[in-house]
Amino acid sequence: MPFFIPERTTRAICEQPIAARPEAAQLPFVAPAEAPELTRLGRCFVHRTCWQTWTSRERFVAAASALRPDVVGRNLACSWIPALSALRLHDLGSLVVFDIPQVDAHRVATWLDGCARQPVIDDHVVGAETWHARPLEDRLELVRSMGGEAFEVVGLPRDRLAVWAASIRRLLDDLTRSG
Ligand SMILES: [Zn+2]
Repeated sequence: MPFFIPERTTRAICEQPIAARPEAAQLPFVAPAEAPELTRLGRCFVHRTCWQTWTSRERFVAAASALRPDVVGRNLACSWIPALSALRLHDLGSLVVFDIPQVDAHRVATWLDGCARQPVIDDHVVGAETWHARPLEDRLELVRSMGGEAFEVVGLPRDRLAVWAASIRRLLDDLTRSG
């Protein structure tokens, strides 16, 4: 598995070094049958800015979604990780993956819904991370930090956070029903 090393990790799309972790995103694996020429890029790091404008992006996301049996909405994989007692969401279009401890999940869903509706949002604790949502003109910038250091900064459409919240609630309901 590739690890991120500042200045030395280079990227799949532009071949330029990535200076700092918040500029980077990691590509998921793709289904080889769907996009054989893109398979080698699985787990590679890319600049988020390059990802946004990459001409193969749609195709890559579709091929990544095809590999995942746990895709619940558009390009959003959501699964239960028993060993962690946590939910894992992987947004294959935004290149965001995170775990939410089950005990925190309702609270996080409520916070995400609030972010989708309102312009100003406080910091929020999610497991070992702190999340902050900065309102931009037409979207939100989600900043994820650990130990006071931001490691991910990603721009998201507001309604995407509502989709995350709905998926979290759906998985919690399923767990309650099966549990
Ligand atoms: Zn790049």
